[in-house]
Amino acid sequence: MIVCKFGGSSLADASQMKKVKAILDSNPERIAVVVSAPGKRSKDDEKVTDLLYRCNSLVQKGQSCRPVFNEIVKRFSSIATELRLDGKELSEMLDDIRVSIDAGHGADYAASRGEFLSAYIMAKYLGWEMIDASDVIVINSDSTVNEATYQKLAERIESGKRYVIPGFYGETEQGMLKTFSRGGSDITGAIIARALNADLYENWTDVSGIYRADPRIVENASVIPSMSYKEVRELSDVGASVFHEEAIAPIYHTGIPINVRNTNKPDDQGTMILPQSETRGVSGISARKGLSRISLRKLMLFKKSGMRHSLLTMLHIFGIRPCFSLFGIDSIVWFFETKQASESVCQAMCDRLLKDFGLDMITVDHGYAIVGIAGNGMDEAVTAAEAVLALKDAGIEASSINSGASDTTVLIAVGENQADEAVKAIYSRFFS
Ligand code: ASP
Repeated sequence: MIVCKFGGSSLADASQMKKVKAILDSNPERIAVVVSAPGKRSKDDEKVTDLLYRCNSLVQKGQSCRPVFNEIVKRFSSIATELRLDGKELSEMLDDIRVSIDAGHGADYAASRGEFLSAYIMAKYLGWEMIDASDVIVINSDSTVNEATYQKLAERIESGKRYVIPGFYGETEQGMLKTFSRGGSDITGAIIARALNADLYENWTDVSGIYRADPRIVENASVIPSMSYKEVRELSDVGASVFHEEAIAPIYHTGIPINVRNTNKPDDQGTMILPQSETRGVSGISARKGLSRISLRKLMLFKKSGMRHSLLTMLHIFGIRPCFSLFGIDSIVWFFETKQASESVCQAMCDRLLKDFGLDMITVDHGYAIVGIAGNGMDEAVTAAEAVLALKDAGIEASSINSGASDTTVLIAVGENQADEAVKAIYSRFFS
């Protein structure tokens, strides 16, 4: 039995939905499908989810969402017309949703309606049953999946039936609608695959798998034929955007294989993601931009127990949640997303840390990217050394290197404006 998830570009309009139906019809093993909201039809188009967030912003400013919501009505109505579905029920639903957004049901409610409507349409079009994600998926306050989800799904799913489930959202234990982070339908797909104990989780998108490097940066980058759960998780966390970085979690202990495939080229084999990789060496390179760096130093910093914890707690108070860390003898370097704190917040945080912890030095500077080199069975130190030499030859300075903390990824910090060049230089070192 196969669980499929189709991303926004695969459901952008009626002709894409027809391709989805053809893929589902071609294999009776495909018994459950998780759908995203319609994505962009062209480069300059807007995703339905973005339109819905804009609707909510208008309401927050005290305006009606109607002007933007009309765009959404047009998109869903034209899909329904082209698929020859009854438009009456759909237009009543759209009206109800607009009224609820205008009544201030909030960002998560608004954003979730793209997936909800997409699932409604696909269920009608396929003649499958729709399960509303808010009835079965329970999301904890830290956005992880609550175990009650699996009990609810086991009670709801009957064998022999085929189901459509909207991705991206669920409910909190208190019954409030809640979304995962952007791209979160991948997580819903993984939840459904685990709940059904599927033989395979197919993740259908608009590219033929996970590339060794972003093909917009490295023109002739090749697709990774197969990689491990750990490699995909770590490569996604440093910027590879094809598969959501948290979508491995629900199936991590199940061993269910994931196949990333292309809706527009269904004959391509795509990338197979397995519990363990069969291939050895570097598999892919990616960069995550938009980072700032905190560097701090104090003599005998780690002598006092709980110091690192107390420092982190203080960072959290200022809204900063580091994503990469490096520890020296008496020093720490943390990288965090620049958008988490303004210049004045950074200044206030530095003043407070200096005073409360008696630091010798603390600075915050901006404009960094972390380049991740993921692989299986590689010698991290050698990989790091080769990558740094490749950067040096390209005239790029590596400001910090983290190798050995993971057996899967080497991380190198570079200036953000050199991140693309860094990916190119490392790619050609390992793959040309
Ligand atoms: N529609 C949501 C987004 O655009 C979730 C998803 O596509 O997975 O982020």
